[in-house]
Amino acid sequence: VLTTTDFDTIAAISTPAGEGGISIIRISGDDAVDVAARIYRGKNLAKVGTNTINYGHIVDHDTGDDVDEVMVSVMRAPKTYTKENIVEINCHGGIVATNKILQMVLSNGARMAEPGEFTKRAFLNGRIDLSQSEAVMDLIEAKTDRSMKVAINQLDGNLSHLIRNLRQDILDVLAQVEVNIDYPEYDDVETMTSRLLRQKAEQVHAQIDQLLVTAKQGKILRDGLATSIIGRPNVGKSSLLNHLIHEDKAIVTDVPGTTRDVLEEYVNVRGVPLKLIDTAGIHDTEDKVEKIGVDRSRKAIDSSDLVMLVLNASEPLTAEDRELIDATAGKQRIVVLNKTDLPQQIELEEVKHLVGGKNIISTSAIKASGLQELEELIAHLFFNEGIENSQNDVVVTNARHIGLLNRANASLKAVVDGLDSGLPVDLVQIDMTNCWDLLGEITGDSYQDELLDQLFSQFCLGK
Ligand code: GDP
Ligand code: ZN
Repeated sequence: VLTTTDFDTIAAISTPAGEGGISIIRISGDDAVDVAARIYRGKNLAKVGTNTINYGHIVDHDTGDDVDEVMVSVMRAPKTYTKENIVEINCHGGIVATNKILQMVLSNGARMAEPGEFTKRAFLNGRIDLSQSEAVMDLIEAKTDRSMKVAINQLDGNLSHLIRNLRQDILDVLAQVEVNIDYPEYDDVETMTSRLLRQKAEQVHAQIDQLLVTAKQGKILRDGLATSIIGRPNVGKSSLLNHLIHEDKAIVTDVPGTTRDVLEEYVNVRGVPLKLIDTAGIHDTEDKVEKIGVDRSRKAIDSSDLVMLVLNASEPLTAEDRELIDATAGKQRIVVLNKTDLPQQIELEEVKHLVGGKNIISTSAIKASGLQELEELIAHLFFNEGIENSQNDVVVTNARHIGLLNRANASLKAVVDGLDSGLPVDLVQIDMTNCWDLLGEITGDSYQDELLDQLFSQFCLGK
């Protein structure tokens, strides 16, 4: 068991870079309080109680100057985020003062934290498990209230709890198999053992399948639903997009580790985060769109989970409309008949025939009609009532977890196949154990150091 004494004292700025009302420098480790005390003038921090916030000044002892007026929070182990002593220095928000204080903290006994290292310590010190650590990151990056709920659910440990139960079940069976192997004098022990293994493999397989069903929605909640709005020039794409954005507030997020100009645009439609693809193509001047035309649309279509194909209902179908209908045939698609406030020229029956009659919505972007129906359809296509009503259920959102669950299921299949083909029980046992290991990687009960490095390096600094 690791104890806090295994680690040195780390520090980082935990608030976003740039100007703000306040910035927070977080220090964690055995020496956290001492480090802070060395650069602080005010009460004796070594003597203040835990979970107190203390007014004072940061002083540069070389020059004798006050660097900033601060509030210092002292939180003593073990009831802290990392289970170590934590000090947080709340200073005025300027980047210069904040950096200066961080430098002073670093030259007084702390080391610069790596991205995610505070959370990594929370994991290594046993406060949270791996899937909960990942939930911390999901929570930071959550795009809608619904994504946030799923992340909080995972942070509460509900996924971990479920996985641990499955592992315990498997372990019980493996123990029973051991006992049977040790007492082969009983009659029929081989048949009994096989039956036991098969039952458990099938039962756990079914439970994992249930989890994987949630994964499709989970991935959308976490990463957003890649969506493109396509159609000929002037059919009303920008107008529809503006409605979606204005009514539901566009969310523009930074992609971690990238520069500002690769912003992704998200729109929150009834809790479904739509990640808009190639909105540049929509915002372009009309003649440019015309020039780039169908080719650009094809690219957007290819990378979409959902395509909204907009047609102008006040004009007859054109060759280009038909081309776009063809190009989107294999996709999850909503056909939007826009400009229904004008006299209708489009042949509705023909459109129905061409698109298979499904998911057609009539709108007028000008009159703002049909937009509620459009949003309802989007939400309905990707989240049936089941998810809506069962927000406390576990939803698997993480690609790493999904991969492990699939591999765990493959091991279980190998168990059943092995039994079917009459493999000796001790060989079948190996596959069952393998499943147990794979599930353990989700919670971090079994893990490798490289996994931790890779996983926590995706975190932002100071978390
Ligand atoms: P885009 O080229 O597909 O992005 O189309 P825009 O959204 O830029 O719209 C082209 C023109 O059609 C603009 O003048 C809009 O005001 C107009 N328009 C868009 N939607 C409607 C609609 O539902 N009814 C009517 N009458 N005009 C619309
Ligand atoms: Zn436009």
